[in-house]
Amino acid sequence: MPHMQRESDMIRYKCPHCRTAIETEESLSGKQDTCPECGKVHTVPLSKEDLAKQKAAEKERRRAASQAEQERKRAAVEAERVRIQAQRQVLASAPSVPHQSLPPQGPQPSQQPPPEYGGVKTLAVVYAALGMMAVTVGLLGLCAVIITAGDRERSTVTTAVGIGSALFIVLSGVMLIGFGQLFECIRDIARNSFHLRPKP
Ligand SMILES: [Zn+2]
Repeated sequence: MPHMQRESDMIRYKCPHCRTAIETEESLSGKQDTCPECGKVHTVPLSKEDLAKQKAAEKERRRAASQAEQERKRAAVEAERVRIQAQRQVLASAPSVPHQSLPPQGPQPSQQPPPEYGGVKTLAVVYAALGMMAVTVGLLGLCAVIITAGDRERSTVTTAVGIGSALFIVLSGVMLIGFGQLFECIRDIARNSFHLRPKP
């Protein structure tokens, strides 16, 4: 039995130089030895026990590293939590600023109404009134000339001049009314585009 036990405790391997099968004492695990066949020095492989120990040590080293990494992350999260809490406390203790007192950001639409341009309005009304008067006077004159066209003492030239003058007055009145309308249009455009203009 002791012999069998001893057999299982032997390290069996092949010489890395000449491939000769070697059986050696477990106590030489991981140590330098000389090949009985080629005589070259080589390292004896680890025994099963030493190999298991080495693997266990490697596993433990990895576990410790992983644990250290987790600890480091946990500490970072905790530090961030503390920092945010401190920031919240600073914000909470700071005097609150009402939103109404904040200065307006960016360009604000003008709240003031557009100017009336009263002068232009008055001019438009005056032109329209003058135009109406001129048209009325011209039409009345035209009627008078046509009605009195049959008079013996009136020459054809006088009648023609009268009709021409009356038509000219009517046409002038229409033009005055047109100018009045034009001024009104310009005034409306100016008022409507007031808010679109760039402010100084
Ligand atoms: Zn050898």
